[in-house]
Amino acid sequence: MQTAQYFPPDYSSAKQSFLAAAHACGAEIESFIAPTLSTKGKELFTDVAALGQIDAVNALVIISGTHGVEGFAGSGIQAGLLFEGVFRHLCPDVKVIIIHALNPYGFAEKRRFNEDNVDLNRNFIDHAKSGSSNYDYDQLATAIAPRSLSRVTELSAQLKILCYRLRNGRSRLQHAVTHGQYSHPQGLFYGGHFEVWSNQLLRSLTEKHLTSCSRVAVVDLHTGLGSYGKGELIMDASEDDPVFGRAVSIWGVERVKSTIAGGSVSSSLVGTINQAFVDMLPTSEVTAVGLEFGTLPKMAVFNALRAENWLYHHGDQGSRNADEIKEALLRAFYPDDDAWKESVMEQGRDVVERVLRAWAE
Ligand SMILES: [Zn+2]
Repeated sequence: MQTAQYFPPDYSSAKQSFLAAAHACGAEIESFIAPTLSTKGKELFTDVAALGQIDAVNALVIISGTHGVEGFAGSGIQAGLLFEGVFRHLCPDVKVIIIHALNPYGFAEKRRFNEDNVDLNRNFIDHAKSGSSNYDYDQLATAIAPRSLSRVTELSAQLKILCYRLRNGRSRLQHAVTHGQYSHPQGLFYGGHFEVWSNQLLRSLTEKHLTSCSRVAVVDLHTGLGSYGKGELIMDASEDDPVFGRAVSIWGVERVKSTIAGGSVSSSLVGTINQAFVDMLPTSEVTAVGLEFGTLPKMAVFNALRAENWLYHHGDQGSRNADEIKEALLRAFYPDDDAWKESVMEQGRDVVERVLRAWAE
């Protein structure tokens, strides 16, 4: 099979291909039905494949579709790893847990967010406490997620964003928009006000598969930030944190970037899956990274997200315009380019093989 063929055209092909690949590898498979149907009335699932000995003390977790639409690339990498037999000769003390389409609604509906309009990678906060505030997002909220995309409102929204950028710089704008916010349920990067279904599922999978492991590595697959086709391993830890050093020893100093130190394509975030694994597994040595692949320039991705968010909340889903908006969103996270797919597959394979090699020593 050629590399590009691992990469699916839609959610149901992705699920089928993943399950076929996992089955061929002799994985133990579990499927979890999501609480929400697709808009076409189809059932949606998160599928989990477990390979290796159940009581292995080292566990590698590979996640796709945390951000829905980003699951196209993540699913392709996961299927490719399985089809290419990367896990064929696991050490007896290593197991691999592959979580396919953690946010299946976003994947099937080609949205970055879930059935609650929640950004799953901002949802892992303590919801009993009041959510962290994001004053800068509040100032820009109506421009980030406008109720109308008419020429007049767009002009004023884009002007507001441009003024903010000129006054505060690009990286502060990125931080304001993407850090995570808990006050605008129809906005972008909304962290929600309760633990969403995918959050609860991840917690129960962690409980089942990982609590007795001494070492856990997590690779959460993402797209949409960084140079076209280039992979970066993103960590929330500062560079002097032992966990950062551990990641560097596995993957090399060039590839691992800290959001705290400011060298990453990502801003520092709140309520992330990476931090959740650390909190959920206090007695394990956890090394959790986001593997992020670049697609389009930041503002192009941002504008694709804005338009799709407007369509979802305020637009006419059946209009001709809607197809264009959905297609633009899809391509902002999943380029229709075989060379891009080959490049992300190769880098994804290398990241995974380095963990397995580090644990074989
Ligand atoms: Zn993402």
